Parts: sequence; structure tokens; C-alpha cells
Amino acid sequence: MTVDVQKVEELVKKILEEMSSSNNEAKAPHFGLFEDMEEAIEAAEAAQKELVKLSLEQRGKLIDAIRKTAIENAELFARMAVDESGMGNYQDKVLKNRLAAEKTPGIEDLKTEAISGDHGLTVVELSPYGVIGSITPTTNPTETVICNSIGMIAAGNAVVFSPHPTAKNTSLKAIELLNQAIVEAGGPDNLLSTTVNPSIEQANIMMKHKKIRMLVATGGPGVVKAVLSSGKKAIGAGAGNPPAVVDETADLEKAGKDIIDGCSFDNNLPCVAEKEVIVVESVADYLIFYMKKNGAFQITDKGQIQKLTELVVDKGHANKKFVGKDVAYILGQIGIDVPAGTRVAIMDVPGDHPLVTAELMMPILPVVRVENVEKAIELAVEVEHGFRHTAIMHSKNVDNLTNFAKAIQTTIFVKNGPSYAGIGVGGEGYTTFTIAGPTGEGLTSAKNFARRRKCVLVDGLSVR
Ligand code: NAD
Repeated sequence: MTVDVQKVEELVKKILEEMSSSNNEAKAPHFGLFEDMEEAIEAAEAAQKELVKLSLEQRGKLIDAIRKTAIENAELFARMAVDESGMGNYQDKVLKNRLAAEKTPGIEDLKTEAISGDHGLTVVELSPYGVIGSITPTTNPTETVICNSIGMIAAGNAVVFSPHPTAKNTSLKAIELLNQAIVEAGGPDNLLSTTVNPSIEQANIMMKHKKIRMLVATGGPGVVKAVLSSGKKAIGAGAGNPPAVVDETADLEKAGKDIIDGCSFDNNLPCVAEKEVIVVESVADYLIFYMKKNGAFQITDKGQIQKLTELVVDKGHANKKFVGKDVAYILGQIGIDVPAGTRVAIMDVPGDHPLVTAELMMPILPVVRVENVEKAIELAVEVEHGFRHTAIMHSKNVDNLTNFAKAIQTTIFVKNGPSYAGIGVGGEGYTTFTIAGPTGEGLTSAKNFARRRKCVLVDGLSVR
């Protein structure tokens, strides 16, 4: 048999060229960003298959890399979020990003249960769902990406994000940089993925996709309802309207400071932040005195309160134009100049006032005076609307604290501190930016993004 050397050489050259071009294609990193939602989901699925081949130690290294990159870019994320969404406060956003990076639990959150006895040893282990679809809010865009990335990857999942369009570039930057960190730490590309054109339509494609095994919605009532109607396993982290109740036994100086610190944090964007104060009449003036000492500006003119209400409340809901804005900007719109250093506007209103009943997410804090603590608790439960999200109480009376906590049944109940103590700033415990009241997981972490599986070894390995 004769061999045509030239033909063989050409063939080999062609194959090598094809291999090298396909290798280049395979190597070109996407870092999670895709034109199309379908592609993003396929890529995340492929990445998840690679993730579960790694050891837990290697998975832990990926989480460390996410934390490190998120901390290094906390300033960038904060700056981009404020500039793009036009909401919130740069310094506070830096703190929130660091908080998400440092205090979100990692793989240590996955605890194996063991049951042993005459018939052997059974273990219940936490395994991944596969690919999780995570819908994120504009109020904490990168914090939620960081927090959910850590928790969901720790549990062995890949994540497809559907970010809020008003924080699109900020969210995409976080997804890209965290992916890059994962790849550099030896993990697969696209463990976190998304489309570069996020929208409700794209979110719908994601929610319906058969390769998405779990949905996690962090946002208002609309998106929570959407994921709960999807027919898939879903976690809903929804709206709140946290009341801060102050009774006559409270340390009023501290309560005044804590309430203003919590309410003004990131211009009141956090879903846990104080949204209205309900105070027992006999101590109301003292509380207001200390709130003013800590940067509250009191509006007393009824006409101005009315004008402000018409400005910031739109059909019973917050007017989006003013969500997360500085107090000076908001009050400037109705011709009120506030002194430098003003952090929050306060005003006396009745309990059924729109400023009380709407979840405003801006540094406007209505104060309602009530006769006694029983009335305060009753009103607080009413204005929280059954969201069961967050409540705050300033009191030294154990019975009052217990009665309020029992009556309101919120996921987070902060006693004698600013609301953000409930997410780990100055309070004990881990953090999360996905607080699942409606579906009951509470402060979500890796264990909530995992399936419980039982492995039974019959008649052996029990050494009791
Ligand atoms: P939002 O509900 O407008 O949007 C949240 C996300 O859901 C966005 O990505 C948006 O594009 C998407 N979305 C909205 N409706 C949808 C639908 N029908 N189908 C699919 N996707 C949909 O909320 P926001 O303004 O970004 O954030 C503020 C709200 O989120 C507040 O109510 C706040 O209390 C809540 N929030 C809750 C938590 C929590 O952990 N419980 C955390 C942050 C924010």
C-alpha cells in the first residue's frame, strides 16, 4: 500500500488547526455573561457538573476566592450601584458588600445528621439541587449576588441570575468578577451565569426552564408570587414594612440613636430597616428629642406633611423616583431646606396614614403616638401587613418584648438595637440578603439551597 505523504501531512495539519481553534473556543472564558438566557442556563448546568467533581476542600477554596474578590471590589460595587440605580449611600453599600462577603456562611453550614442503632447507621446529607435561578433586587444588587453565590455554590449548585434591569451593569460586573475569581481558584467557568439583557421576559424564560431545579426570588410581592406559581421548588424572600415600637421602659437616648442609625442606613433601602415608629405617648417627646439629636429633621406643618405624602406615595406604594434618595433631595422637592447632617425626616401622623402603611424605602420616618404598649403592639402588627419580615422593639420589659414578638411573628425581631443588628451588623449571628419570610426558611444560607438525602447502611457501622 502506498501512502500519500503529502495528503497525510495536510490532513494532520487540518486536524491540528481544528483542534487548536476548538480549544481556543473552549478556553475563551465567558465569566458567566451570555447574550441569551438559554445559553446561560446550559453553561451553568455544564459548570455544575464540573463543580460536583471537585472535593469539598476545593469547593471551600472557590468560596474563599469569592469572598476575597467581593471584599476587594466592595468599593467598586458600591460606586456602580449608587451611580446606576440612583439609590442608596456609597459608604453604607461598601459596608453591606463586605458584610455579605465576610458573614455569609459557606460549606461549614452543611451539617450531616447521623442516626445509629441496632439496624446500622443512617446519614442524612445535604446535596445540591443542580442549577438554581436567583432573581435579585435593585436595592441590594451586588450584596444579593455575593450572598447567594456563596450559599448556593457552597451547597454544590450553579446559579443563573436574573438581576433587576435598573442595576443591570452593576450586577453583571459582580457576576463577571466572581466568576473570574472562581476560574482563577481552579473552578469551572460560568458557575454563576446570566444574560446581558435581563428583563421580566428573560426571568420568565428562566423560571420555566426545565434545567432550573429551584427558584429563589428576592424582591417584592410580585416576584415572590411568580416563583411560587412556577411549579418548581421555590424560596420567596419578600417585602417588609418593619415597625419600631418604643415603650415607656426603653432607654430613650439609645432608642433615638438606634432608630435613626437603622432607618438612615443606605437611605433606608434594606428590607429590614425601620419604616415607622410607634411610641407610647408618655415618652414620645423624649424619643423625638433624641432622634433629633441624632440627625432627624422634624416636619410639624400639616400642609408640608400632606405635600410630602403626595410626593412620595403613589397609589399606596412608594414612588420609585424617591426610593433610596437622600433626605435633603426629597425634602428639597417640596421646598424644605434641611440643615447639613440631616439623615432622616420625621413627622407625627396617625396610624392609618399612607406614610405608615406604605413600604417607602427612603429616609422618611413617620412617628405614631399611642396610649399604651398594648395599642402599640396592635398597630405594629396591623401596619406590618402580615409580611412577618422584621420588627424592632425598644423596651426593658421582658413581658412587653415577649408579647410583641409573639404577636407579630416576624422572621427577624431586634430588641434594643438598630434593625441591621438582625443581619449581623453589631448583633450576633450570620448574615443574609435573602430573608425568606413567606416560605419560612428565614435567614437563608447554604443548607436551604440543598436537598436532604438519606443513606442507610443496614446492620453495620453502629459502634454504640
Ligand atoms: P422588585 O420586586 O421590583 O424586583 C425584584 C426582582 O424581581 C427584579 O429582578 C425584578 O426584575 C424581578 N421581578 C419583579 N416582578 C417580576 C415578575 N412578575 N416576574 C419575574 N421577575 C420579576 O423589587 P426591588 O425594587 O428590586 O426591591 C425592593 C423590594 O424587595 C422591597 O419590597 C423589599 O422589601 C424587597 N426585598 C426583600 C428582601 C428579603 O430578603 N426579604 C431583600 C431585598 C429586598
